[in-house]
Amino acid sequence: MKYDMEKIKQRIDELFDEAVAFRRELHMHPELSEKEEETAKKIHQHLADLGITYQPNVAGHGVIATVYGKNRQHAVGIRADIDALPITEAVDVDFASKNPGVMHACGHDMHTAIMLYTARILNEMRDELPGSVKFFFQPSEETIGGAEQMIKEGALKNPDVNSVIGLHVETTVPAGSIEFVLGPMNAASTEFYVTVYGQSCHGASPFKGVDPLLPACAMVSNIQSIVTRRIDPTEAALVTIGQFHSGTKNNIIPAETRFSGIIRVLDMKNRYFIKEELERICKQTAASFGAECKVEFVDSYPSLTNDTQLTEWVKESAEEALGKDKIRIRTRASLGADDFSYFCHDSRALYYNLGTARDGEEITAPIHNENFNPDEEAIRTGILSEITAVLRILEEESKDW
Ligand SMILES: [Zn+2]
Ligand SMILES: [Zn+2]
Repeated sequence: MKYDMEKIKQRIDELFDEAVAFRRELHMHPELSEKEEETAKKIHQHLADLGITYQPNVAGHGVIATVYGKNRQHAVGIRADIDALPITEAVDVDFASKNPGVMHACGHDMHTAIMLYTARILNEMRDELPGSVKFFFQPSEETIGGAEQMIKEGALKNPDVNSVIGLHVETTVPAGSIEFVLGPMNAASTEFYVTVYGQSCHGASPFKGVDPLLPACAMVSNIQSIVTRRIDPTEAALVTIGQFHSGTKNNIIPAETRFSGIIRVLDMKNRYFIKEELERICKQTAASFGAECKVEFVDSYPSLTNDTQLTEWVKESAEEALGKDKIRIRTRASLGADDFSYFCHDSRALYYNLGTARDGEEITAPIHNENFNPDEEAIRTGILSEITAVLRILEEESKDW
């Protein structure tokens, strides 16, 4: 790489304490999804101080910052989510959350601080950059998927973005290391809601009505045959029922039973197949008991698959910057979901894991846990990996501009 890596590392070291302080500021004042107003203001303030152009209020409280390089029509995108979770923090640190019941327990404060300082350093290097860089400070990852809305509002246009990268904290990887997942990484998620309609009557004379509980229980079992008998077992898919509600009293046959759950798949074709099968099984099971049912679906995030070419470039640049021993490869996907996946469907994209496990710590609290407490050393690794990734992608993509 033609850039002076030592100089970049030195600049990160100089700014490290400031980046940590910014992360702690965000950590102390976490805001729930769709309510990231003060967080956005802090981002605006920093960008304005740095003289970086930005567009506020994208998809709610999202912010898009742009650093213009030599080519102003083409850019590489980076995304950081900025929202927090409804969790009461249990970590005993002096920068613990001051917002009762709200906590940055998914590391989005880390993501935001890392990307802001990546923007700061790339802005200082803008005269050397062959193209531009867009920074997506994205709201509402934990609820409605701010990524989709940002893309709808034109995030990938003007300058045009062909490739987007993003990182997420990972507590199973040590701080200082990063992990790439080859190919499929996260699942597509769909929620389903089933209502079984019967006819209520006295529990001592069930023959006078139609019991909706019995067909509903049969459905819960029958649905599991989709994954075990209708999907290729080498493909990952699951159906989980998380809620089941019915009735008001021991001796009343209720009029209806409701249950709901999630479908997760890595391959989008299985999303449509499982929805069809689930509806068919529920309808036919209901009919066999003389009951009726309604099945509703709400599609959430699509699947997240990493682009092979981007993975190769970014892995190489990370090996060069961090050392080969700091790079991990995972070939197995998770059926978790993340709205970064929208970028995979509208551009090519790469999501990678940033290790945050503390050296020598026996038990590391996972994300979404009230004890989650990442090693801030990961901020240094995060900034360096983002900068080197962007430089490499710009170098490769600018050959075609
Ligand atoms: Zn989360
Ligand atoms: Zn997260």
